[in-house]
Amino acid sequence: MVKLYLAVPCYNEEEVLYDTTEKLTKKYDQMINDGLITSDSKIYYIDDGSKDKTWTIIDELHNKNKYVNGIKMSRNRGHQNALLGGLMTIKDDCDCVISIDADLQDDINTFDEMIKDFENGSEIVYGVRSKRATDTAFKRMTAQGFYKVLSMLGAEVVYNHADFRLMSKRALNALAEFKEVNLFLRGLVPLVGFKSSVVEYERSERLAGESKYPLKKMLGLAWDGVTSLSMKPIRMITSLGAIVFCISLIMLIYSFIMWIIGNTVSGWSSLIVSIWALGGLQLLAIGVVGEYIGKIYMESKHRPRFIVEEILK
Ligand code: UDP
Ligand code: MG
Repeated sequence: MVKLYLAVPCYNEEEVLYDTTEKLTKKYDQMINDGLITSDSKIYYIDDGSKDKTWTIIDELHNKNKYVNGIKMSRNRGHQNALLGGLMTIKDDCDCVISIDADLQDDINTFDEMIKDFENGSEIVYGVRSKRATDTAFKRMTAQGFYKVLSMLGAEVVYNHADFRLMSKRALNALAEFKEVNLFLRGLVPLVGFKSSVVEYERSERLAGESKYPLKKMLGLAWDGVTSLSMKPIRMITSLGAIVFCISLIMLIYSFIMWIIGNTVSGWSSLIVSIWALGGLQLLAIGVVGEYIGKIYMESKHRPRFIVEEILK
């Protein structure tokens, strides 16, 4: 039997909390009956500085419901930070934590499979959406494009996986070693390593209320994902510089020919060649400086250089 904690970040979720709690309570009752989880398993709501009655409701539910506990963040810091804050606060007390959004768009009936995978040795179990029928075509397309871009940039991401996942205490302790402030958990968790597995499910509609991820925040998250995982954008500047510099060589030959033919205004050849050459050189120089800044950036994250999985002695 597994002692399971649930980490549920909540930002202005007063409309869904009662429903969510009812569903989760039933699920917990069933899993305890099935001998899957221990009876002291808990549900942790993490209030991410909500401006509505979210915290009052969590407090009330905590008093009424034996499973519900709460953590209140001092102010709104965004989904990723709230989730990490919650995970780090509760990890030492349990065997594993499942993170899930408050709107229960992710299927809570996959908990059983996740826990079985955990019992079979997986330290991380990723929830992956098999279909995205409930998302708008726009969201599907942008998400698809985003995963493509990320993997092109060399980041290891699990396709169609958001932040619905199980992590063991050991994986969470390893995650705690990643000290970076710009958080993109989906990109970090695969870096932890260990044995992992995937559980598929269909994503449903939000229970109630509106998405707390408007387009602006989604773009912000995507940009954080790219810049916190990859130095390739900087390298693109260097490549661009090299390309422009090559063009300047072509321009040199071209304007030389034009000059021989006598097909130019005087001063044109020298001007056009210096514009291209200088442009190319400047881009190259920025790229080189950027390379060093990128290195400093990566160093400043103080990521762990290794994580030991097993020692035989
Ligand atoms: N959330 C949060 N802080 C924020 C924004 C969102 O904790 O600043 C939580 C929110 O309450 C929900 C989860 O993050 O539990 C995902 O948000 P939402 O369901 O609105 O995103 P979507 O499913 O539309 O991508
Ligand atoms: Mg949602």
